[in-house]
Amino acid sequence: MRAIRRFTVRTVLPRELAALGELVHNLRWSWHPETTDLFAEVDPRLWEQVGHDPVALLGAVDPARLSELAADRRFLRRLADAADDLREYMTAPRWYQTLPDAAGAIAYFSPEYGIAAALPQYSGGLGILAGDHLKAASDLGVPILAVGLLYRHGYFTQSLSPEGWQLEHYPSLDAGGLPLTLLKEEDGTPVKIRVGLPEGRALHAQLWVAQVGRVPLLLLDSDVADNDSAARDVTDRLYGGGTDHRLMQELLLGVGGVRAIRAYCRITGHPDPEVFHTNEGHAGFLGLERIRELTEARLSFDEALEAVRAGTVFTTHTPVPAGIDRFPIEMIERHFGGDNAWPTVPVERILALGAEADPGRFNMAVMGMRLAQRVNGVSELHGEVSREMFKNLWPGFDVDEVPIGSITNGVHAPTWVGREMMELAGRELPLLIERARGWDGIQKISDAEIWEIRRTLRRRLVEGARARLRRSWRDRGASDAELGWIDDALDPDVLTIGFARRVPSYKRLTLMLRDPERLRSLLLDPDKPVQIVIAGKAHPADEGGKKLIQQIVKFADHPDVRHRIVFLPDYDMALGQLMTQGSDVWLNNPLRPLEASGTSGMKSALNGGLNLSIRDGWWDEWYDGTNGWAIPTADGVADPDRRDELEAAALYDLIEHEVSDRFYDRAADGLPRRWMEMVKHTLTSLGPKVLAGRMLRDYVLSLYTPAAKAGRALAADSHAGARSFAAWRLRVSKAWPGVRVEHVEASGVGDTPEVGNVMELRATIALGDLAPDDVLVQAAYGRVGPHDELVHPGYLALTPVDSDDDGRAHYAGVVPLDRTGAFGYTVRVVPHHPLAASPAELGLLTVPEEPVGMTNGTLR
Ligand SMILES: *Cc1c(COP(=O)(O)O)cnc(C)c1O
Repeated sequence: MRAIRRFTVRTVLPRELAALGELVHNLRWSWHPETTDLFAEVDPRLWEQVGHDPVALLGAVDPARLSELAADRRFLRRLADAADDLREYMTAPRWYQTLPDAAGAIAYFSPEYGIAAALPQYSGGLGILAGDHLKAASDLGVPILAVGLLYRHGYFTQSLSPEGWQLEHYPSLDAGGLPLTLLKEEDGTPVKIRVGLPEGRALHAQLWVAQVGRVPLLLLDSDVADNDSAARDVTDRLYGGGTDHRLMQELLLGVGGVRAIRAYCRITGHPDPEVFHTNEGHAGFLGLERIRELTEARLSFDEALEAVRAGTVFTTHTPVPAGIDRFPIEMIERHFGGDNAWPTVPVERILALGAEADPGRFNMAVMGMRLAQRVNGVSELHGEVSREMFKNLWPGFDVDEVPIGSITNGVHAPTWVGREMMELAGRELPLLIERARGWDGIQKISDAEIWEIRRTLRRRLVEGARARLRRSWRDRGASDAELGWIDDALDPDVLTIGFARRVPSYKRLTLMLRDPERLRSLLLDPDKPVQIVIAGKAHPADEGGKKLIQQIVKFADHPDVRHRIVFLPDYDMALGQLMTQGSDVWLNNPLRPLEASGTSGMKSALNGGLNLSIRDGWWDEWYDGTNGWAIPTADGVADPDRRDELEAAALYDLIEHEVSDRFYDRAADGLPRRWMEMVKHTLTSLGPKVLAGRMLRDYVLSLYTPAAKAGRALAADSHAGARSFAAWRLRVSKAWPGVRVEHVEASGVGDTPEVGNVMELRATIALGDLAPDDVLVQAAYGRVGPHDELVHPGYLALTPVDSDDDGRAHYAGVVPLDRTGAFGYTVRVVPHHPLAASPAELGLLTVPEEPVGMTNGTLR
């Protein structure tokens, strides 16, 4: 019989142990081992049984044991210390509190969050990144207020069929069994969020709060009695269901999310966010809701749009056009028009925000960019790819000038770094972790000490892998009698390569299988064997991905290699920690440039692992020739099969001739000196860069604080700034066709220009109805390509000299001939306003009708 409803009955803690409840309900425990030590002490065996889930622990612990602890003076003292430590952590001023003009609060929206294995509300990199973002924000005192959805079944858990086919399971999570608190009104009734739907329906949600250190995370949950059964299922699972289901989720996240923030701030007195950061396009409707709020407070649509844009940050996470979130426009029309229209927000304006090349599609990423004054990708290479991908939104501008920047991802060290390694860092290099400086101190630590930690972490991985392998084989129907070999599967002293990821095709799970014989000989090398630990989930609808998993599993099932290569089902944060800590080498072989950033290799690096990776995402930026290995990419080769073959061959060669040689090259004392040299170099060169703390500082300094300032400038005096900026935009856009570059002349360079000469430039510009203040006139100059195109030009603002009565203005400036070779220049006009974030902001640009200057000779 199945229960029609389930809930969790919580333990009532003895008064003396009340602080235990406080500790359990702040997820800081997930990166604070002293607190989890205390949980373990409550009941060590049970702690293992519940998979280190403190809520489950308190739910299952024998009340007699609790009474015993309530009288245990030593335990109570430790509990009091831990509780004091948490209170200190929650209130002490941090880095952020030293900044002038920083945002009072920042709202952060994401469809998924990877905080802890015990809160399975993530599918992969996007969620893990969001979780690390919140934790690093908490550590640095960045006042983020985060919003997401609570999925009743999370993503899915994975097991294997006897044939090695992925099976998905959707266990019911009950919010009462998770470290969450229901948000209530002062009168004790649960807070209700409502989002209207067409035909008089509505979507209701309650709000759960997960406390992630100092950061509250609000999770909307549609499983409430006010909803019809379809609406109840909106938050059933992460990335499940069809387009309609996804739209419902995104409406709840974006529109409902802003309403959730308003309710939370009203009830708790939390300051209202000044900046709204949307992690990928899924939460993009939040901008529409904020426009609605402002238009109902008497701003026009255009004024509200400016006010919203100024305070919004949009981060794009995919370089794959197929990965962009899009809807058929009829769906948007139906949900924001007709009987469900918002009176002050015309549906045509909404459609225009999401318009893309395909007239039938509404594009969430494009809307995200139009609703945010600041946009970034997640590695330098991804920034470049994104500028190329979205350049049509800024026609006429060079791809370099497309206003999409980048902040490279990072990882939260206390979450991902093995305890022994954290302790070593803490002892030898106080405050090293999450600090940019001081990493050179690594060099002072002895090879022997780091190697010993590496061995401990590898042994832990081997033991954990055996346990998981055994469970997996039992699930596949094997009896214990057949599983004796698992006791010797993997070897704690063999070079261990880790490979774990989601399984979209660009990540190429099976590249290593390209030449099975070659792989087999690497695994079984009598002197220098290699072992490989693999994990990953395919999206439930991705049959191709499941086939790849099956190929790996079938290969790993062979009795001759099964002790050297294993596939571990159900990749989650706990397995991710085990693998990134214990692997000597972290393998990543995506099709360049399709991996936006990647973060698992960063986790490995912080644990003293070495990366062996295609130069994609973050690795393209920070590989320095000796901090790991770059698998040569054949991204010029058009035939994908040939490309795979070339890259696989390079991979085998690297493992055979570089990686395992180094690992097994031992000194008289048994230590791999050359290996340790590389490990130390990896820690010192990558350590400070890959930290989520570095990432958060970058977000705060280059995006959040400027966005807060811009938002304030537009909001002051009842939005006087927004009104005047919107009016300016309208006026400039209307008058722009009248702007022309009429005449350009250069003097000062003779027939044989030499580097170091200067060129005086004068330009006459027809401004039409605009004033000189409305525009910026610039010289663009530098190297020219074969078709006279300027390549990565420099820009120099020309200064207004005088203006005529007929709307002509004269400009002048001095251009340095700062490079040899073919050199060219031109003049351009762009709109100019102090509140614009980039010259491309309005997407308007005027250049001379005829190309102007080329120095035909070659500069010497
Ligand atoms: C780190 C991590 C990811 C993201 O890793 P990528 O390198 O971006 O693929 C995904 N899932 C889990 C469980 C992780 O720990």
